[in-house]
Formats: sequence, C-alpha cells, structure tokens
Amino acid sequence: MSHASLSRRRLIQAAGAAAVVTAGGAATVATTGDARAAVPAARADIGALASPFQMGEVQLGAGRWKGNQDRTLSYLRFVDADRLLYNFRSNHGLSTGGAQSNGGWDDPAFPFRTHFQGHFLTAWSYAWAVLGDTECRDKAEYFVAELAKCQDNNAAAGFNPGYLSGFPESEFDLLESGSLRNGNVPYYALHKTLAGLLDVWRYMGSTQARDVLLAFADWVDWRTERLDSGQMQSVLRTEFGGMNDVLAELYLQDGGERWLTAAQRFDHAAVFDPLAAGRDELNGLHANTQVPKWVGAAREYQATGTARYLDIATNAWHFVVDAHTYAIGGNSQAEHFRAPDAIAGYLADDTCEGCNTYNMLRLTRELWTIDPDPAYFDFYEQALLGHMIGWQNPADEHGHITYFTPLNPGGRRGVGPAWGGGTWSTDYNSFWCCQGTGLETHMKLMDSIYAHDEGGLYVNLFAPSTLTWSEQDVTVTQTTDYPVADTTTLTVSGGAGQTWAMRVRIPAWTEGATVSVNGEDQDIAVEPGSYATVERAWADGDAVTVTLPMGIAVRAANDDANVSAVVYGPVVLSGDYGDAEPATLPTLEADTIERTGEDALEFTATADGSEVRLAPFYDAHGHNYTVYWNAPGASGTP
Ligand SMILES: [Zn+2]
Repeated sequence: MSHASLSRRRLIQAAGAAAVVTAGGAATVATTGDARAAVPAARADIGALASPFQMGEVQLGAGRWKGNQDRTLSYLRFVDADRLLYNFRSNHGLSTGGAQSNGGWDDPAFPFRTHFQGHFLTAWSYAWAVLGDTECRDKAEYFVAELAKCQDNNAAAGFNPGYLSGFPESEFDLLESGSLRNGNVPYYALHKTLAGLLDVWRYMGSTQARDVLLAFADWVDWRTERLDSGQMQSVLRTEFGGMNDVLAELYLQDGGERWLTAAQRFDHAAVFDPLAAGRDELNGLHANTQVPKWVGAAREYQATGTARYLDIATNAWHFVVDAHTYAIGGNSQAEHFRAPDAIAGYLADDTCEGCNTYNMLRLTRELWTIDPDPAYFDFYEQALLGHMIGWQNPADEHGHITYFTPLNPGGRRGVGPAWGGGTWSTDYNSFWCCQGTGLETHMKLMDSIYAHDEGGLYVNLFAPSTLTWSEQDVTVTQTTDYPVADTTTLTVSGGAGQTWAMRVRIPAWTEGATVSVNGEDQDIAVEPGSYATVERAWADGDAVTVTLPMGIAVRAANDDANVSAVVYGPVVLSGDYGDAEPATLPTLEADTIERTGEDALEFTATADGSEVRLAPFYDAHGHNYTVYWNAPGASGTP
C-alpha cells in the first residue's frame, strides 16, 4: 500500500502559505519580535469578533491559580521523556534504550497506550509559550526528534508512511472492518498526538514538529479517503476525540485545503444532525466522546463560515449548560449524559469527569470569540472556580488530579470508583484522559482572562495577572483577592493618550456593581450580564476599580426544587463533614448561613440540627463534603 506523496503535500503547503492573514485576523499572529510569539496561522478565523492574546502576553500573579500552574510545571519538568517514549519506540521497532515502561493507561498492554503523550507535548509547549521555560522546551524538542525517528522507521516496522503510535496500525484495519473488540479508541489516541505536534509547531516554532505532523496528517488523509461515507460513519461510532478539531486547526494553521476535507470526514452525522435541528438527544451518550466533536464544529465554522456548524456547537453548548450541568459547572455521571435536567437523581461518586469541563471551556471560549456575550464567561467562571481549580490536589507537589469529582453526600476528592477514577493520579501509573487534560488546563489558566478587538480590551475573568498588550504598548495589571474579596483593580501603564475601551464583565449573579477610575465613580451602565465599558484617553497609571457585590444564593437543581447548592457570588460553597459520611443529603436551614471571616470565605450554618462549616468547594480537600443539600431554593442552575 502507498499513499499520497509528500511532494503533493509540499505544493499545497506552499499554496497555503500564500494565503496571508488579513487585518484583525487570527489570534496567533505574532505582534512582537518576541521569540516566543506563536507561528502565524495561514488563514484567519472566519467570524471571529474578538481574539485572545498571545499566551506569553498574560502572566498570573501570586494566588491559587498560580499555585496550580506551579505544581503542574514541576511535574512537566520532572517526568522522564524516555519512559513516555517506551511504547512509541517499541511499536515502531526501535530500542527502548533501557527505559522503564509505564503503568495505567500507558501500560504496554493497554489498548490506547500513547494517548497521553500529546498532552505532554501541548503542556510543554504552553510552558515555553507562557513562561519561557527552557526545560519544557527542551523536553518537547527531544520528544519530537525521537518521534521523527519512530516515523522514519515505519517501513521496517510494517506501517504505512506517516503513521505514529504506540499500538500497531492493524488496529485501524479492525476499526474499519467493524471487528475491533479490545476497547481500543485508536483515533482518540492519535488526535492527542496530532494536537500536541501542532502546539509544538505553533507555540515553539519547531519545523520538525510541523514536518512530523504533516506526514502524520497525510497518513490520516490517506487512511480516511479510501472509505466511502457509510464506512466512515461506522468508524465514527468509536470514540475519536477531536479529529475534526485538530484537522480544522491544521487547515487554518497550514492553509492546505485537504486538511479541511479530512476534518469534515470526521463530522459525525448521528450526533451532529439532531443538534443542527435543535434536538437534545444527549441522554445515554458517553459525554466526553461528544464534547470534542462540538469544539471541532466551532472550529469548522471558523474554517468555512457554514452556519450549520455554528448551530451544532451553539445548541450543544446550551443543552449542556442549561440542562446537563451540576452547580459546580461539570457534567456527566458515570461518564454519560443523563436525561435533560436530571441532576438531583444523579448525585454520585462518579460525577463530573474532568475532561468534559476542560472541553466545555474550550467550546465556551471559541463560541465567545464568535459572539462576545458575557454569559459565556459567566459559565466559564462557574466551571473554572467550581470544578477545575479544585480538581488538582494542592497538597501534591506534582499537582495530581482526580478523574471524577464526586457529588454524593459525604463525597471526597480522591475517593471514588475502585478502578482508580476516584483516586489521585500518580507520576507513572495512571495516565488517564483527565490527567492529560489536567496538564493542559493548569498551564493555560491565564489564557482567557483578557481578549481584544479593534475597539479595545475585554476583561472576562478576575484573577491576579499582568497583561502585556504589545499592540497598544500597554501593560494592564490586575490586583485582586477575588473571589475572597469582591473588588478588582486594573492599572494601566504606558500607551499614554491612546483612546480605547476597557469592557469589564459584570456577571449575571451580581447586583449593584460599581466602576470607578482613579477613585471617581463612573456614570456608566453596569447591568448584570453585560460589559461595563470605560472608554477614555488612557493616562499612565490610570486605575479602574470594579466592585461586584456578592451574596448568598440557594440554587435548586433543575429537577428538584428541594435539592439545592449554596453559592456565594461565583463560588459554590460545600459543607465540611470531616470523616463523617452522611447517608442522605443534609437538611440545611438556609436562613442560618452566616459569614464568619472577613479575610476568607468562611461560613457556618445549621444542617440536620448541627452546626456545619461551609467554605469554597475548590478548597474542599482532605475531608468529606456535601455540595447539594436538602433545602428549597430558587430553580435553575446559576
Ligand atoms: Zn477524562
């Protein structure tokens, strides 16, 4: 067997490179001479009304988010690349060099081994792009060079050109003939490697990563082009990650038309058709098999401008956020979507798989760039503070995570289903999907705080951070203890005299927000669920102070007015039950909730006749908790 020649690919690549980005185009355009600026994309995103900043233009200040980033960074530096190469080298007929093999989902006998390594490539490239971390850059470069050797040995290994994996290519013969029986999800694993190579190319400028990626994508194109659409749709019944996403990304980055054609072969009709028609048929579907397809649909919209893709992505987002999402912003029970609004009936120890929220946040961010509605970031904040920040174990120097976040009464992070999904991940014996998306999440916590368009700046999230807005020669420093404090201050330096708008998200949950500049209250609209706009000729040192008053709210589950979570502003509060295991949801006397500390979010309340301590759920570590209570509340998710 042979397939499309590399020379054809080169021609197309050259043609793509001529399609230069238009003004105001893709977020990946280099705006400075900074060596860490991303490689510009060949094509601009269609329909993007706002753009994120370059990853290195936003830095976190001291605080919980930075703590999470530091712990993940230490793991990224620590991990032994040769151990991660074991299955690739072994599969491609090369010496494993005496390296030890891994356990968990990277065990040499695990069906989709090497699904994980692409997450490392992505996270290492982020560590370089964000922090200029040379240890992570060097690890990524070494890893790509070794993958190139694996790919180069394909003829000897009996694989077709471009193939790159820790399991044999024959798995795809089985997949295509419908006889795959070992639980493998081969395209799921390949998607991660493709995405990792793409990130090393664009964030580190590695031409070797680009070349390995293009040869690998060439293999995908060849492998899928041979199938008729019926055969291809059968292949899509097996989880395939975000193959449509990464191929659409490659089309935008490289410019070659064939990558878009290949991306569209992964449009899964059984999932896309009901969504395009506005029908929620998610009940019973494996949740994280679907969300990456929707991220792909959003990227395919940005690649083609075809409204159907946007309908699919937008409808999916609304269905999940409005009808399948727990108070902490996560979704799924036992990895599956349940019936619309089924929340209170599914408070178990295997709720809220981490990957789903990672992918929902990616989807949210894409949809916001197309329609900069602050409601998207109300959800983003809910899920980030409610699920992602506390997903990582703050007591672990390598920042390990838990697969599920239990929502049963007496649930505890790190305790869950016996197969391991409830324990904390480990250095070399887990390598679950969520551990991979966790690496990425905690290396990009800064990436959605700010965005920009021709009119100015958006401030979407509140966290200590510094934005170096190269285009305007402006630095914006955000100083805050949010959400412990309800105030944040944004200080503008440089760029004297330039006029632009600073648009600050006023969350839907607040009332009575205020905005002042240099201590003077501004007479501007500060409606909940909108952007407050401060437009002025900025002087060096101008300080914008935003206050977002927070209050206690009791939010009922969609399906039971008496099963509720307690929130304080954007923060879900949980009850601390120590080592006790309440068998049912504690009955909360909501009118007894009282804040007990000014400098921390500490509360007490009476539940089941006893006093219980309430605190932010992201801090609920090392004890049993309850997030939901038996208490009447206002209906609807926050
Ligand atoms: Zn996962």
